[in-house]
Amino acid sequence: MGNPSARICEDSEKLLEEVIPHTLQDIEDYICNDFEVVRKPPFPESHGRFRIFLKNRISPKPTINKALCTNCGTCVRLCPVTPRAVDWFNGDKSCSPSYDYSRCIRCFCCQEVCPESAIYIKETLLSSIFFH
Ligand code: SF4
Ligand code: SF4
Repeated sequence: MGNPSARICEDSEKLLEEVIPHTLQDIEDYICNDFEVVRKPPFPESHGRFRIFLKNRISPKPTINKALCTNCGTCVRLCPVTPRAVDWFNGDKSCSPSYDYSRCIRCFCCQEVCPESAIYIKETLLSSIFFH
């Protein structure tokens, strides 16, 4: 039967030398070099507004407890949305950031990164009915 560890090493080497280069070669065939990103919304704008309306009534929302917030700005820096869904109101960094829930994709990164645990998830009436 031989040494199982040696067998695994041999198989790994075979994979590296034969299979992976071949697979990568195959992948090259599928690359489309003239690919263009189309940044159109998947739905008409009116549908988008309706979806935002529903989202804001169904999805739980991140919310800042201003008593705990130290205005450090970590949530603002980490928000992945452009323009950001949590940001300083009128650029005023002397108070807590505020949310634009129509932009927020509910990734909850802001809640995860807040060093003060100042961000909590607020249920909406519908989210509490649907998800509990
Ligand atoms: S939940 Fe995500 S998208 Fe929404 S404000 Fe927080 S980090 Fe930004
Ligand atoms: S990360 Fe937390 S403490 Fe810092 S600004 Fe945002 S909510 Fe306030």
